[in-house]
Amino acid sequence: MQGHKKIAIYPGTFDPITLGHIDIIERGSKLFDEVIVTLAVNVAKEPLFSTSERQQMIEEAIGGIPNVRVERFEGLLVDFAEKKGATVIIRGLRAISDFEYEFQMALMNRHLADGITTVFLMPHEKYTYLNSTIIKDVAAFGGDIRKFVTNFVAEKLIDKIQKKG
Ligand code: ADP
Repeated sequence: MQGHKKIAIYPGTFDPITLGHIDIIERGSKLFDEVIVTLAVNVAKEPLFSTSERQQMIEEAIGGIPNVRVERFEGLLVDFAEKKGATVIIRGLRAISDFEYEFQMALMNRHLADGITTVFLMPHEKYTYLNSTIIKDVAAFGGDIRKFVTNFVAEKLIDKIQKKG
């Protein structure tokens, strides 16, 4: 049966997961049989949250969606996709500013593995200006972030910022 299932991966850093990410995950879960949220372990940018913390926050957010799971990955994304039998890479597109980088990556990944197709999903417009960096900045200065992340993530963010002083 594995071969008949449409499996998609949704890669990212998720530092932390936001309602924008969750919006994309929900849309993806309706389009594909399985969605694997693919948590990048080897990121150039030093994440605020550890891999385990980021994974825990994703797991909490996707808990209610039966065909979505999270897995860590290291190395080349298309290798991971092939290993999992995935034929689709999901990426979110918020604005023109996302386009150039996403376009380059999609074409490079196609060059590396022609059998894997990148699809772009647009979140609800209320999430188009959201990204993890902005949320961390707002939280660091004591701004209200509860409209942009789950309560679980909001608490973790507040905790983390208090610990960092
Ligand atoms: P990166 O892989 O650049 O570290 P992220 O981990 O933040 O990016 O995001 C993973 C994916 O989710 C990317 O495709 C990104 O465009 C998308 N994304 C991030 N924030 C949002 C949002 N608010 N709405 C829709 N898509 C988003």
